[in-house]
Amino acid sequence: MTSPNPGLCGRCAWVRRVGNRRGSTFFMCGLASVDGRYRRYPALPVLTCAGFEPEVDSDADHEDDDGIDTPLTPH
Ligand code: SF4
Repeated sequence: MTSPNPGLCGRCAWVRRVGNRRGSTFFMCGLASVDGRYRRYPALPVLTCAGFEPEVDSDADHEDDDGIDTPLTPH
């Protein structure tokens, strides 16, 4: 079974993906549990959302590696 295009929810830090036994994936808004202006299960695709926060890419949080090892030396 295919899931609908989630729009912004597909790359939002607040989203929780909930699967069922039939293979469907639902997109639950975690912000809805702390802010009543948001729906727990928004109508998809979400095209604009004031609460949208981009997911943090765990691979992108390292600094540029220039190949030069700079050891920390205590003084
Ligand atoms: S804050 Fe908006 S974009 Fe993010 S999961 Fe909730 S409804 Fe989707």
